[in-house]
Amino acid sequence: MDGWIEHVAEGPCIEHTGSYHYSGYGRVYRNGKSLGAHRVAYCRANGLEIEDISGKLVRHACDNPACVNPEHLSLGDHADNMMDKMHRGRCGSRPGSWIIFMQSPEGKRRTFLSQKEAAEAVGLAQPSISKLVKGGHVKASKMRGWVFLRAHKVVLGKGRA
Ligand SMILES: [Zn+2]
Repeated sequence: MDGWIEHVAEGPCIEHTGSYHYSGYGRVYRNGKSLGAHRVAYCRANGLEIEDISGKLVRHACDNPACVNPEHLSLGDHADNMMDKMHRGRCGSRPGSWIIFMQSPEGKRRTFLSQKEAAEAVGLAQPSISKLVKGGHVKASKMRGWVFLRAHKVVLGKGRA
């Protein structure tokens, strides 16, 4: 399941600054329709229309749902699709929770859909993850080689928390 998060994003993320879906994906409104900002960015960069990628997924190499840097976006296949559905289902059920981005001891970027999930993977207690999310520090020896990158709050409706 790590296939789609193995390729590393080139350059920094460009975050969408408009409205956000509770999943963390930026939204763009066009002709009364709500579109994923990353989908629009992908089409713009590749000279495609939004209809050209209908049914296909635009994936983030950086795991940052808010990112619209075309360098970080790629079109997903069916396996990715299934993965994304799972991801979305789990994300969508928990507005107000945090998506946590960390680097594994092997140097891979990993995304966790809750503090609990991150805590289990890293072998920390949940309050330690909570501390990291709030900008606090956890002893390197306790992190077992993991590096905390950033956290993104899952929000409902417009704006960001
Ligand atoms: Zn990015």
